[in-house]
Amino acid sequence: MKRIIYTFMALFALVFSMTNISEGAVDVKVTWLGHATVKIEGAGKIIYIDPFITNNPVAAIKVGDIDKADYVFVTHGHFDHIGDTVEISKKTGAKVISNGELSEWFKIKGVEKVQTIYFGGGSVFDFGRVKMVYALHGSTIGDAVNPIHGGVAAGFVFDIDGVKIYHAGDTGLTKEMELLADEKIDIAFLPVGGHFTMDIKDAVRAIEFIKPGKVIPIHYDTFPPIKTDPELLVELAGEKAEIIILKPGESIK
Ligand SMILES: [Zn+2]
Repeated sequence: MKRIIYTFMALFALVFSMTNISEGAVDVKVTWLGHATVKIEGAGKIIYIDPFITNNPVAAIKVGDIDKADYVFVTHGHFDHIGDTVEISKKTGAKVISNGELSEWFKIKGVEKVQTIYFGGGSVFDFGRVKMVYALHGSTIGDAVNPIHGGVAAGFVFDIDGVKIYHAGDTGLTKEMELLADEKIDIAFLPVGGHFTMDIKDAVRAIEFIKPGKVIPIHYDTFPPIKTDPELLVELAGEKAEIIILKPGESIK
């Protein structure tokens, strides 16, 4: 009889924990703040990616609005991606995660909590797992007169409570994206503005490679060279993925 009770208790615990996992899955919220700036809230943490707010004509918030952040992830060294990272980290105590070259630069700028990750099997954080993935782009900090080597540009795949979120950073279309199909991405943030990154036509090919559930187009309409019509992505992608066009400041769960 005791054994039956223990078995029942074990089964109950298993079912209860599985329920919690599936409940956690719907608790991840992503917000597009304009350009490539994305906020993820999940597992009790607040994560910013490429927080370009000051001097961003389409930013949905002001840096002063950010009073809580746990992590800032930076994909590469260009000004429209490093953005306000230093100020946000100093203000909130957020840890800044990037490649090694950018990490050294953040330390010089006085950021206290810095962590380097690199292309590999992934890194474990207290909110889940993050894998740095390839992006076809540059990463120099500064200008041609005083360039600073910012390492290799990257994207990130987040796994938070079983929800997989891919932030592509700035990238052109690359066959490397085919590898992401194995990740079973739920939400992909893809640049579509062209000129510096993929345009909409290339983003459709990227969707064929990545096979994500949902796609949120980013990195367009910030400046004249990257003006585009994201509705065209809805038209061209067809049934390949659910395209969600957000206005800066809008979220999905
Ligand atoms: Zn950019």
